[in-house]
Amino acid sequence: MSLSREQMLVEMGITPLWVLRDKAETQADAPPEATPSPRLSGDAGEPPASAATQEATGDWSELAETVAACRLCPLYQQRKQAVLGVGDRQPDWLFIGEGPGAEEDARGEPFVGQAGKLLDNMLAALDIARGDRVYIGNAVKCRPPGNRTPEAAEIAACRPYLDRQIALLQPKIIVLLGKTAVHSVLREDKSLASLRGRRFEHAGIPVTVTYHPAYLLRNLPDKAKAWEDLLFARRILRAAGGG
Ligand code: URA
Ligand code: SF4
Repeated sequence: MSLSREQMLVEMGITPLWVLRDKAETQADAPPEATPSPRLSGDAGEPPASAATQEATGDWSELAETVAACRLCPLYQQRKQAVLGVGDRQPDWLFIGEGPGAEEDARGEPFVGQAGKLLDNMLAALDIARGDRVYIGNAVKCRPPGNRTPEAAEIAACRPYLDRQIALLQPKIIVLLGKTAVHSVLREDKSLASLRGRRFEHAGIPVTVTYHPAYLLRNLPDKAKAWEDLLFARRILRAAGGG
């Protein structure tokens, strides 16, 4: 059964009919309680020339501490703060975007600007809210200057943190929002159009692909495709016993 165009528009928040549900209390990542020394496996001292082969270890507080102090790529230079992610730490869903924008950099939370409003509408259409069974993160944790696309080396440098998040979160489905997330997790450079509607896997977890909300804001007709992609992801999630 497919939704009528009007239903879809309503669900995606494109018509004035849309009323946002009360947002669930956002669970920002708690500040670390302890102050363990930041740790990447391998050399415990100087960061090595290539971070791409590194593996981040440790628990959430250690990860938060490490990322906050990270200087593994040039993006640290202009950030106000690193933005690790936000949400339920035992989620069904993990959404991964590109990197913080200006508002995210200022507030320390992912997807709080215009693209974030659309993402929240997309979540609401799935009957989920930020922080409730969903975790939201990014491929890179520090804002690229001028919101440029992160470079391959920056994505690679930051990848161990994302991998550690995935290992800690153990989501039942990962939804990649846009090319940068696809590049980071699937190491794929193909067009989104060719990757949508397919089931991939990362560390044994099902992965699907859809458009980035910022792209959808500029390309309204593709919202319908994004909605199809979310329904596809939900079918996979439900088949895995999630909601
Ligand atoms: N776009 C992203 O990819 N991530 C954010 O956190 C905000 C906008
Ligand atoms: Fe470190 Fe990632 Fe920030 Fe680069 S973007 S400085 S790798 S946390």
